[in-house]
Amino acid sequence: MTTSFPKATIEGYPRIGANRELKRALESYWAGRIDAETFRSTARALRIDTYNHLRDLGLTEDYAIPADVAYYDQVLETALTVGLVPGGTDLDEEFALARGTDTRVPLEMTKWFDTNYHYLVPEVSAGQDITPAPERIVRIVEEAREAGHTVRPYLVGPVTLLALSKPAEWSLLEKLVDAYAQVLSALKAAGVEWVQVAEPAVVADLSTPDAEIAARLREAWSTLLAREDRPNVYLTTPYGAAREALAVLGELAPEALHVDLAPWTLDTDADYASRVAAAIPAGVHLVAGLIDGRNVWAANLRERTEVLNGLGRDNGTVSVSTSTSLQHVPHTLNAERNLPVEVAPWLSFADEKIAEVRALVAGEDEAVSAFAQSDRAVRTRAESATIHSAEVSARVEKLPAGEVQRAPLFAERKKIQDEELGLPKLATTTIGSFPQTPEIRKARADHKAGELTDEQYRDALKAEIKNVIELQEEIGIDVLVHGEAERNDMVQYFAELLVGFVVTENGWVQSYGSRCTRPPIVVGDVSRPAPMTVEWAKYAQSLSDKPVKGMLTGPVTILAWSFKRDDVPLSVSADQIALALADEVRDLENAGIKVIQIDEPALRELLPLRADERPAYLDWAVRAFRLVALEAQPGTQIHTHLCYSEFGQIIDAVAGLDADVTSIEAARSRMELLEDIDSTFHSEIGPGVWDIHSPRVPSTEEMVELIRAALANVPAERLWVNPDCGLKTRGYAEVEPSLRNLVAARDEVAAGL
Ligand code: GLN
Ligand code: ZN
Repeated sequence: MTTSFPKATIEGYPRIGANRELKRALESYWAGRIDAETFRSTARALRIDTYNHLRDLGLTEDYAIPADVAYYDQVLETALTVGLVPGGTDLDEEFALARGTDTRVPLEMTKWFDTNYHYLVPEVSAGQDITPAPERIVRIVEEAREAGHTVRPYLVGPVTLLALSKPAEWSLLEKLVDAYAQVLSALKAAGVEWVQVAEPAVVADLSTPDAEIAARLREAWSTLLAREDRPNVYLTTPYGAAREALAVLGELAPEALHVDLAPWTLDTDADYASRVAAAIPAGVHLVAGLIDGRNVWAANLRERTEVLNGLGRDNGTVSVSTSTSLQHVPHTLNAERNLPVEVAPWLSFADEKIAEVRALVAGEDEAVSAFAQSDRAVRTRAESATIHSAEVSARVEKLPAGEVQRAPLFAERKKIQDEELGLPKLATTTIGSFPQTPEIRKARADHKAGELTDEQYRDALKAEIKNVIELQEEIGIDVLVHGEAERNDMVQYFAELLVGFVVTENGWVQSYGSRCTRPPIVVGDVSRPAPMTVEWAKYAQSLSDKPVKGMLTGPVTILAWSFKRDDVPLSVSADQIALALADEVRDLENAGIKVIQIDEPALRELLPLRADERPAYLDWAVRAFRLVALEAQPGTQIHTHLCYSEFGQIIDAVAGLDADVTSIEAARSRMELLEDIDSTFHSEIGPGVWDIHSPRVPSTEEMVELIRAALANVPAERLWVNPDCGLKTRGYAEVEPSLRNLVAARDEVAAGL
C-alpha cells in the first residue's frame, strides 16, 4: 500500500448539480436541443466543478473524493462498465436502456435499498456474454487527474449487482468476477491506488437469502482480492447492518472496509458497532460511516465521537465517512433563505455533513466551535416549544394501543353505502388527478410570484375544477373527482398546510434519471391548524349530483416521501399525521362528501430491508391508515389507492387497511395480481384497466378483456372500473378518448351480466 486511506471522506455526493445542471443537460439532449458533444462536455464540467467544490470543503487528501459518477444511474453505469449489460460507451444506447425507444421497452426501474432513489434493473440470462468496457471508468479517473484531482473511482460490487439483477442469475458470478478483475486491472494500469466497491446487498434480505449472499461474497471477493494487478480495495456496506456477511468481511480483509454506523442503523441494531469491532481485524482499515447520508439532521458530534471511540481503533487504522452516499440529501443549506431561524441550525445537508465528518476527524479539542454548535443544536431542538406539542402528544397517548377497527364491519357498511350511494355494478371512477395543464402550472407560478392574487388564483382553480367535473359528467363516470389542480405534489401540498413540517426552496434530491423531488421535512409534532381540502371538495360537489370523492394522501405516504424525525419512532409521526387527516375526514363529511379516498401508493416503500422487522412496520402502518378512517360514518365510502409495487409481499396488509374500495395498479401486469387478491380481499376492488404510464389510448376491446379477466376473480358487485393511477402526467388528448373507451368497456361488460 503506497497511499494510505484518507482520514476524512464521504461515500458519494449528489450528481444532479446544485442548480440541477445535469437534469437540464439530460433533458436538453433528449429533446434534441444540444448534441452529444455538448452534453458530454457539460456533464464533464459539472464533475470537475464538483471535485473543486469538494476540495474547497476540505476533502483535500488524495482519494478522499469519490467519483461516483453516472449520467442516468449508478447501477446502469457499473453494469455497462463490467459488461453485465452490453452497451459499451455508446451514449444513445445507454439512454435507450434507461428510457426505451419507440421499438424497445426500457429496463425496469425499482427502489434502491430503502431510499427514494430508483435504479435500473439489469436483465440477465444464464450463459450470456460479459464483455467489460473499462474505458468508461478509466476516462473518469483521467479527466479528474487532468484537472488536478486524485479521485476514488466507484463501482457497485459484483454480488450486489447480480443480487439486484433480474433474475439473480448466480451462475454468471464467475464470469462476472472475471470482468471485474479486468476493470480493476485497467484501473491499476491507469495508476489508481484506491477503488471504492459498494456491496450493500449484505445489509438487506433480498430474494437471495442472507447466508447465500455471504457465501457469494466470499466466493467473489476471495478471487478478486487474490489478484495482484489491482488497486487497494475499499469495500463498502451502506444502508444498514451486515449480519451473516460480517464475519466473512473480516476474513476477506480488504485493505479498507466501510460500515454504516448511522443513528438509524444503531437504533435498529443496537450492538452493531461492537459486532463490527469484534469481527474486523486490526489489519483492515476501518471506515466508520458515522454521518447519516440519508437524513437531514445535524449530527450530535459528542454522541458520534463516543461511537467512534467505542470501535477501539488506533488513530492510524480508522477513518470517518458518511453512512451512505450523500446523493439522498439536498446539496446545501446555503441555498435556503426561508427556513425558520429556529429550525435551520438543526439541519445538515450534503455540504454541511462534510464539515461534520471533518469535525469528527479533528476531534473536540481541535474543532471546538463545531462541537459547541452541535451541542447547542442538540439542546435547543430537545427543548423547543415549537416542535413539541403537549396537546398533540396527549391526543396520541389517549389512543387505544395496537389494532384499531372501524365499526361496523365491511359487510354491514356495504349495505348502508349501497343504499345511500346507489351506484351501479362495475362502477367507474378515476384515481384523483386530471392533467396538470400548462395553464394550471402558469397560474401557480404567477401566484407564487405575486402576479395573481389569492382570489384570482382560487378563481383559476375553480374554473379548472368546473371543467373537470363537466367532462366527467359528460363522459358518464359514476364517482367523480375534482382533479387535484390545486396540488403541486400530493405530499408537499399537505406538508405546506400541516404544522410540524418544513418545506425547502431548493432541497432537490434525485429520484431517478433527470427526475428530482423536494421532500418536505417532518420537524416536530404534527397537527392541522385548519381544513386543507374541504373548500375544493365542497365546490366540486356543488357542481354535480353524482358523488365527488374527497382526496387525501395517507399518513404512510406522507411520511415515506418526507425526511423523517430521528427523535421519535416513525410510528409516532404516523399516528400524528393520521389524527390530522382524521379531522379532515370529519370536516369533509360535514361538508356533504360521501366518498373519501386516502391514497397510500408508498405503503410498500417503508418496508424494512430485514424480514424480521417487516411485521412490526406493517402493524403500525396499517394502524395509522385505519386511524384516519376510524370515526368515519358507516355510510361514508372510504377508498384507498396503491401503485408502484409488487403487492405479493404486502397483500395482507393492503387488505388489512379495511378500506371499502381499493384501487390498485394492474393493467401493466395484465391483472396478474388478482390471483393473490382473490383469497385475501373481501371488500370492493378496482384493478386498473388502463396503464396511464404509457401515452397510448387503450381500446374499448382491450379494457373489456381486462374487466372480464378481473370478473373471473371478483364478483361484479365488488368490482370497480378505473385507470391504474392519477392522470396528472397525461394530456387531455389521451385522457378524453381513454375515459370514453373505459366507460364504453364497462357498459359492454355490464350489458352481458
Ligand atoms: N390521487 C393521486 C393522483 O391521482 C394518486 C397518485 C399516486 O398514486 N401516485 O394523482
Ligand atoms: Zn397511483
